[in-house]
Amino acid sequence: MEMPEEIFDKVVKIAQARGFVFNASSIYGGLRSSYDYGPLGVLLKNNISSMWWSSLNSLDVEIYPIDTAIIQSSEVWKASGHLAEFTDPMVDHKPTGERFRADQVPKDLKKEDLTEPRQFNLMFETSIGPVENENSAVYLRPETAQGIFVNFENVLRTMRAKIPFGIGNIGKSFRNEITPGQFIFRTREFEQMEIEFFCDESEEDKWFDYWVENRLNWYKNLGIPEKKLRIRNHEKSELAHYAKKTSDIEFEYPWGWGELEGIANRGNFDLNAHQESSGNDLKYFDPVTESKFTPSVIEPAGGLTRTLFAVLLSLYEEEELENETRTLFKFNFDLAPIQIGILPLSKKEELITVCNQINSSLRSNFRTEIDITQSIGKRYRRQDEIGTLYCITVDFDTLEDNSVTVRSRDTMEQERIKIEELRDYFNNF
Ligand code: ATP
Repeated sequence: MEMPEEIFDKVVKIAQARGFVFNASSIYGGLRSSYDYGPLGVLLKNNISSMWWSSLNSLDVEIYPIDTAIIQSSEVWKASGHLAEFTDPMVDHKPTGERFRADQVPKDLKKEDLTEPRQFNLMFETSIGPVENENSAVYLRPETAQGIFVNFENVLRTMRAKIPFGIGNIGKSFRNEITPGQFIFRTREFEQMEIEFFCDESEEDKWFDYWVENRLNWYKNLGIPEKKLRIRNHEKSELAHYAKKTSDIEFEYPWGWGELEGIANRGNFDLNAHQESSGNDLKYFDPVTESKFTPSVIEPAGGLTRTLFAVLLSLYEEEELENETRTLFKFNFDLAPIQIGILPLSKKEELITVCNQINSSLRSNFRTEIDITQSIGKRYRRQDEIGTLYCITVDFDTLEDNSVTVRSRDTMEQERIKIEELRDYFNNF
């Protein structure tokens, strides 16, 4: 069995070599802990986010989608407590000047060489408009959640929403992390997928449990093995200033357990804070009891880019064949960036023409790719390595019998299928 660190190195290498993730600004030597998502990474990220939305759309309760601005009024961050409280304790290593988050100092550094911790605000500050003054300061959002709270009344009114209901938001967030690292696990720019679920205070425990289970199952449905996932309940002393209760869904990364998602009972902290600060009425009117109240909120807050990394790490496999090792990502059909590879046996024009025809007939329903260069064996390996579920091979017999070979990634078995039957064949997956 391989050491976990080796898996980490291999997955990072394949992710970069195959076009999932690139180092940002690489032609200028890169920018530390900043990453770009390549074609396969974007497809994978899109599939994860659409699986997130579709799981929410299939619930019995309504989850409304929203997409809020990265730059909000600074009043939002004042009211939410981020300006005062969104800080991490930072220490300096005196001999080198290196800085660390106090709880992430490498074990081999001597405690005596560290400064006392001081608080460092993680929000990126910038300014709006051509003139910089104290009123022009704005912040890149450190979470997508506040965009939901400040739109609570807009969604309530325009959608005639009735509690319990939720609002979901996916997008980029920014944190000036003191110690980013472990590839895309902790970066300064990342994507989140967050839900604020509004309910009656008497039902908050029930919905809290509901969301912990629902979200854990979602990660399992992505294909992450159950044994690599666990729930960790926060101790009272760990709770954030707004939270009554928090449970994290953790994944076993090669370096140990790490958070994928936090599910928090935020009570009515945020709506009350924005109500007080903005002077707007953010209460809910219950038409049945004719009473007005501020709902409680359960927040499942996950990381999209962190999940993408967990998916790559947990679905990476190596298989020993007779003379070689084949490597693969065992994505399921919904998750796979490319579902079907279309391969001409050789570069002969007639074979490529048939590949193009097959591609046109499948592309509107499936994610496909034509792969022409290199020997067929090497192309099978490449398709395995990027997690393509099926390869269609067009050979010289195809020109006679209108059939192709379909090879399965997982079993490596091949079957001969008529071209006209391909769509139905793949529709069964
Ligand atoms: P951590 O303790 O790892 O810093 P957090 O508890 O501050 O995370 P939350 O504020 O709960 O994180 O954010 C929700 C989710 O957003 C996290 O579970 C994680 O998946 C993701 N996330 C947070 N910070 C980062 C980051 N710097 N890089 C990538 N993903 C992040």
